[in-house]
Amino acid sequence: MNFPKRAEVVVIGGGVIGASVAHHLAERGVRDIVVLDRAERPGLGSTGKATGGFRAQYGTAINVHLSLLSREKLMRFEEETGVDPGYEQAGYLWLAGSEAALETLRAGNRMQREEGLAEAAMVSRDEIARINPALNLDGVIGGAFCPTDGFIKPLQMLEGYRAAAERAGARFTWGVEARGIERDAAGRVRCVESSEGRIETDVVVNAAGAWARAIAAMAGVDLPVTPLRRQVVPTVPTEALPARMPMSIWAESGFHLRVRDGRVLLLWPTPGDPKDAFGTQIDPRWVDDVAAMARERVPAIREIPMDRPAAWAGLYEISPDKHAILGAAPGCPNLWLANGSSGHGVMHAPALGQLLAEMIVSGDGRAAALDVQPLRPSRFAEGEPIDGPALL
Ligand SMILES: Cc1cc2nc3c(=O)[nH]c(=O)nc-3n(C[C@H](O)[C@H](O)[C@H](O)COP(=O)(O)OP(=O)(O)OC[C@H]3O[C@@H](n4cnc5c(N)ncnc54)[C@H](O)[C@@H]3O)c2cc1C
Repeated sequence: MNFPKRAEVVVIGGGVIGASVAHHLAERGVRDIVVLDRAERPGLGSTGKATGGFRAQYGTAINVHLSLLSREKLMRFEEETGVDPGYEQAGYLWLAGSEAALETLRAGNRMQREEGLAEAAMVSRDEIARINPALNLDGVIGGAFCPTDGFIKPLQMLEGYRAAAERAGARFTWGVEARGIERDAAGRVRCVESSEGRIETDVVVNAAGAWARAIAAMAGVDLPVTPLRRQVVPTVPTEALPARMPMSIWAESGFHLRVRDGRVLLLWPTPGDPKDAFGTQIDPRWVDDVAAMARERVPAIREIPMDRPAAWAGLYEISPDKHAILGAAPGCPNLWLANGSSGHGVMHAPALGQLLAEMIVSGDGRAAALDVQPLRPSRFAEGEPIDGPALL
């Protein structure tokens, strides 16, 4: 393919969010789309590192609504794109070890039910033992469970959106780095400089995940998105836990586990590498700590070794209030941001892609499916970040 000199829309970043935006724009009749990604092939960014959790149990209404819209879209994903997104309703089970943590779950549960997630429920210790008999419940006083939460397959979702967008005419270019963004005297973006040359364009979408801040800076826009390392260690292959075990999360520490492809995946959020914000090295002491937590909390895998060489790490794209940043960049009306999902970007990609495409084609910058005002990029400068318990 000759590298294009012009495109109606340039999307920077071909992860699940960039691909979803491209698909939803193409679905709305925008066909002249070029997606740039500096990686050699799809899935090398955070999307390929995600473990594939899906949930609507969040602490804020806007995140519940993003999940409900995504869930509706996951149900017809295969029809829409031709690819199975792997959505499996195995549930998310939260465990609280203190009255404070239980109260946070209770408040979240009340709000979730008010916003339409009727099946989310508070559960007693006995109910927890029935939902997931493999856990050691010492110290656990109660929890929350939603049976329609569960799992998705990040790379299949990326593939579905990419393939559908390409069928509709969008062009994905791999191994091409965005290096600069030029604005005209009125402040509008007019061209992207890339490692393969300049592309003139009417619209740029920043979908560069953990690297989004640098893309915005090319256009002189300050975007408060920072990388945060997340590590995962799998056990060796095992049948010690059932394949459909719900995602199980200790609310206080954030330690959680699930079964994927015949292994147990163990996660525990910690601050990133202090010496290298974009580093994705595995910290061996972290693996020791997680293995110790697993031995204590999940007796069924006490004797199952960790597969240390198979551990991996990737980057979350953290915004100051841990919610997505969606909309036109302040002061630059044709630079659109789909950033800062803060570790929820795969599950919210169906909703975010549709909503941003709606905003771009609407002419008045509004999304039709949902009121996305809370996610507006200007909220930090206005002193109105989203307020609410993070629930991870
Ligand atoms: C260990 C781990 C577990 C996770 N688990 C989950 C989960 O269970 N559920 C969930 O929903 N989310 C999860 N996430 C978060 C999820 O992976 C991200 O939120 C999501 O992948 C973000 O998608 P994206 O398309 O924005 O980013 P990416 O997939 O990172 O795509 C961004 C792309 O931009 C490209 N790029 C960057 N700079 C440039 C440039 N200058 N020029 C051209 N291209 C550029 C990169 O190459 C990359 O391909 C997890 C993340 C990690 C690390």
